[in-house]
Amino acid sequence: CGIVGYVGAQSALDVVLAGLKRLEYRGYDSAGVAVLADGGLATAKKAGKLVNLDKELSARPLPAGGTGIGHTRWATHGGPTDVNAHPHLDGAGRVAVVHNGIIENFAALRAELAERGHELVSETDTEVVAHLLAESFSSCADLAEAMRLVCRRLEGAFTLVAVHADEPDVVVGARRNSPLVVGVGEGEAFLASDVAAFIAHTRAAVELGQDQVVELRRDRITVTGFDGRPADGDVRAYHVDW
Ligand code: GLU
Repeated sequence: CGIVGYVGAQSALDVVLAGLKRLEYRGYDSAGVAVLADGGLATAKKAGKLVNLDKELSARPLPAGGTGIGHTRWATHGGPTDVNAHPHLDGAGRVAVVHNGIIENFAALRAELAERGHELVSETDTEVVAHLLAESFSSCADLAEAMRLVCRRLEGAFTLVAVHADEPDVVVGARRNSPLVVGVGEGEAFLASDVAAFIAHTRAAVELGQDQVVELRRDRITVTGFDGRPADGDVRAYHVDW
């Protein structure tokens, strides 16, 4: 339902949680975050309101890091439980993904992954994306490219935002029939399903086009189509000068 991503010098957890709070008005049934730190990926997720997630984070704090993603979920596939809350991870816990919308062909993808030995733990349509991203990343070692490859296999409406522990300074987003906005700061960048999430930090925003993938780094934003072609117009390889 609500998505926030951040890369920069601030605490990603603080930026993401504040962003999720600004999206609360949209309604949701569970919430979660993932932060890249110390060469790994740390996550927390809870059914219920953000206050439940805050309590979880007080009980089990995450390490500090400058790259992170978060989600407030409105369940469509699988009940509102801790396990079904986003982010969803691959089997090795190196990829985290959050998702708005519905992956229509998730059952076929799930069966295919099961045949290749993947064990999925949730009832969501989203979890297949984490496993597919991990597989693609293991052959191309580029999260944006992995996202393009995976998106070409997905049917339905989706906004996806993902991180990989092997690319700790990158957040990748993608969209089809569901909104995603990029916020450009000085040495930092934001992704959200709604500008309200990051308007306190920057007013420089670019809406991602249909069937596009964005790679976010602190000082560079690169947009391509699902087919890998650079996006038209001024969002292409957006270099930020400051
Ligand atoms: N279909 C996904 C799920 O049920 C995402 C729901 C949403 O848009 O929040 O987990």
